[in-house]
Amino acid sequence: MHPIHGTISLMKIQLETIPVWDGIKSNSECYICDLMAEAQHDAISFYLGSSVMNPETRVRVNEHGFCYKHFQMLVAANKSQGVALMADTYLAMTRVKFERSFNELLEAKSPRLTKKAIEHFSEDLDKREAGCLICTSMQNRLKRYYYTTAYLWGEDTEFREAFSESKGFCLHHFQGLLQQSKEALSASVQLEFVRALTQLELANLDRIAKDVYWMTQKYKSENMDKPWNGCEDAHKRCTNKITGRNRVIDPLH
Ligand SMILES: [Zn+2]
Ligand SMILES: [Zn+2]
Repeated sequence: MHPIHGTISLMKIQLETIPVWDGIKSNSECYICDLMAEAQHDAISFYLGSSVMNPETRVRVNEHGFCYKHFQMLVAANKSQGVALMADTYLAMTRVKFERSFNELLEAKSPRLTKKAIEHFSEDLDKREAGCLICTSMQNRLKRYYYTTAYLWGEDTEFREAFSESKGFCLHHFQGLLQQSKEALSASVQLEFVRALTQLELANLDRIAKDVYWMTQKYKSENMDKPWNGCEDAHKRCTNKITGRNRVIDPLH
C-alpha cells in the first residue's frame, strides 16, 4: 500500500513506463545512461530545428543558454545558421548582463577595487553558465526515469523480476535512483528497494571486476592462447560503470 503522499507525487511526476520497461529488458550496463543519450539527442535536435525561430524559445536561449559541452555539441552538428542566430543574441545578452562587471574592471583604481571587480566578474560568469537548457531538459526526463523505475519496482512483480535480472546501473545513476526513490515509494517499500538495488549493484560490480581482471590477465604471454570470455571490452564497461556515459553535467539549478 502506498501512502497518500505517494499518490500526490505520482500526479506531479509523469510515468515513463514504456522506455523504462524497454530499458530494463535491454541487458544494458545502465539503461538510464542509454535513455539520457536519447534525451540529449532529442534536446540537441530541438535547438537545431525550426524552434530556433520561435520567439519564446529564443528568449529562453538568450536568458539561459547552454553549458560548454552542449554548445560544443550544437556546433559539432554542423547546422551553422541556427547556431549563429542563437550565438548572436546570446552574446548580446551576455554583454548586457556583464556590463556592470566589465565597467568595474575598467574603472577599478585600487588593488581592493580590482579584486572586487574580478570577484564580480567571476560571479557573473558562474551565473551566466548555470541553467543550460539541454541539461535542464535531460534533468527533467532523468527524474521521470528514476521515479518510474522505483514506482514500477513497488507496483509490479514482473518488473521486480526483470530488475533483479538486469545489469544494474552506473554508479552515478545508482546514486540518483537511491535519492529519487523516496518520492515514488512509501518509507517501508523504499527500505526494501534500497536493499534490493544495492544488492543488484554489488553483484554487477563483482561481475565487471572479474571481467576487467581477466582482461588484465589476457595481456600476459602465458594467457595469450586462452579465450577472452567476452572480456575484450571490459575496460570500457568498467569505466562506464564507474563514471556513467551520459550524465547531466549542469545540475545546479
Ligand atoms: Zn548511467
Ligand atoms: Zn548542458
